[in-house]
Amino acid sequence: MHFMRFKTKKSHLRGIYYMIEFLNVSKKYKSSQVMALNDFTAKIDKGEFVFVVGKSGAGKSTVLKLLIRETNVDKGKILVNDKDITRFRRRKIAVLRRNFGTVFQDFRLLTNKTVYENVAFAMEVLRASNRQIKKRVPEALELVGLADKMNQKPYQLSGGEQQRVAIARAIVNNPSLLLADEPTGNLDPETSKEIMNLFLNINITGTTVIVATHEKNIVDAMQKRVIHLDKGVLVSDVKQGGYNDDALLD
Ligand code: ADP
Repeated sequence: MHFMRFKTKKSHLRGIYYMIEFLNVSKKYKSSQVMALNDFTAKIDKGEFVFVVGKSGAGKSTVLKLLIRETNVDKGKILVNDKDITRFRRRKIAVLRRNFGTVFQDFRLLTNKTVYENVAFAMEVLRASNRQIKKRVPEALELVGLADKMNQKPYQLSGGEQQRVAIARAIVNNPSLLLADEPTGNLDPETSKEIMNLFLNINITGTTVIVATHEKNIVDAMQKRVIHLDKGVLVSDVKQGGYNDDALLD
């Protein structure tokens, strides 16, 4: 059982790589008239860097929410290492989430805690040992370039720095998959570029990275895989490309 391996102490230090497959996934939220996803099929290999793009309401967040089981499908399957996570119940969902790091547009830091404490907290909830926390938190902060701001509180940091803390927190448990939902939505273009470079560095270490964004400039600059959604429908899936200036999609 792949997921159970995380329970061993050592697994805090080791990535477990996942194969992800969306198979004919359809989803409509109860209070909504439209399909959030409509017969969506895509396969993401371990170690890939993938953009999920499209206009607001295209279904990008839904793809991420389904992967962390914040919501579930109406139809179809989502396989993670050949296991259909749409059938998972609470305990297995919790284990699944532990192996995924998440980053959001609005950072979601704990405002009363320092930078160090914010990142350490992600390890504490997984019951990492003090020794592991003391070793790993500075490493993660070093990686995002914030080693010198460990004792600051979030309000003392710029938006870009706050997002770096959120990224350190997302990767501190060494997740196999990093999910980011509009991570540069609140940042200026220059800072956005830096954050994307950080994701690239994380990806190079073997972590699968999935970024949902509507920011064409970033996607065009990166030339990575682009999954393009429009009204919940997959319109293109390019191995290495830009945002795709289809007239229909802006
Ligand atoms: P995106 O991330 O591309 O902006 P979403 O996945 O958030 O798109 O939304 C896809 C569709 O599902 C939209 O029509 C949106 O209005 C709808 N939707 C998303 N979340 C909810 C929700 N919690 N309740 C009702 N409808 C929702």
